Amino acid sequence: MSDLKTLAEALKNGTYSRVVFMVGAGISTGAGIPDFRSPGTGLYANLSKLNLPYAEAVFDIEYFRQSPKAFYTLAGELYPGKFLPTKFHYLIKLFEEKRLLRRVYTQNIDTLERIAGVGADYIVEAHGSFAANHCIDCDAELATELLKLDMEDELVDGIPVCRQCGGYVKPDIVFFGEGLPDRFYDLWEQDCKKTDLIIVAGTSLSVYPFAGLPAAVPRRTQRVLVNQERVGDFASSPRKVDILALRACDVIADELAELCGWADELVELIRKGKEGHEAKNTDKGVGTKEEEKEEKEREKEKEEKEEEKEEEKEEVERVKTEDEPDIDEIIKDISKLKVAEKELAPTEK
Ligand SMILES: [Zn+2]
Repeated sequence: MSDLKTLAEALKNGTYSRVVFMVGAGISTGAGIPDFRSPGTGLYANLSKLNLPYAEAVFDIEYFRQSPKAFYTLAGELYPGKFLPTKFHYLIKLFEEKRLLRRVYTQNIDTLERIAGVGADYIVEAHGSFAANHCIDCDAELATELLKLDMEDELVDGIPVCRQCGGYVKPDIVFFGEGLPDRFYDLWEQDCKKTDLIIVAGTSLSVYPFAGLPAAVPRRTQRVLVNQERVGDFASSPRKVDILALRACDVIADELAELCGWADELVELIRKGKEGHEAKNTDKGVGTKEEEKEEKEREKEKEEKEEEKEEEKEEVERVKTEDEPDIDEIIKDISKLKVAEKELAPTEK
């Protein structure tokens, strides 16, 4: 059986150039995202109080129709922005930078691929995401800002409602009983035959149609499984050349980066990512940070001009009180002041 070292050699010598990742919850556990199925976690305890008929009911569209509270309890814990990508997410980003990435199919709704900086064109969020929200009755869209406000609003019990018809609103996450996004089927049709290496990571391959992807790739495509145990097609109909890396995803990210000679680059990506996240948390965001800086500069300029104005005023005052000057002098000073005032007029864009 081949191993990780063989894979690293092949990656280094350019054997593969169209790599497809297929990832699940296991790549995000290192980020601290709580697993709602695990007893002992706060999330599990919170959901238990809601008397779910079974754990997955939280993502069941029919259950949501009757009782949306369970989903919003979970959503409050999982809402994007709280968590940092893992090493494995940055490994995917590194594949993109090395021009080896063709696509990443993710079952996760945590958007950590995006947060790690992977380009949107490369990402297929097979189970949707929190990016937009729609009413489950009339399909009207609800802006994310409003959704978040409702989630915090005790008056509606934290459940966002449609402004058009009063129905329940849910983020565009694919629930059991709903179809996958068209993008998933459209791109898979192209990628399936064009990929030369698939890396399946952190998924139990138990939810279809996603679970069927590894079995669908041609025999010439190298398959790699990164997971704690053999799952899905890797267990039921393994291929002779399958590479199995049966350890935690982040451990494999480290090992593979090391074997490929990319360890420093991976560390650098993670460092930059953390920095960006911290900047976002202390300010309003990277984009607005610039604006804030500019705003501060504008304010400083204004203050300086105001000081100048004050000084001039004082001078006029002094002239008035100390020297008992002639009227012409005063008029001259006043007109000077007016010019200064004009210069100070607000120049709003
Ligand atoms: Zn509606």
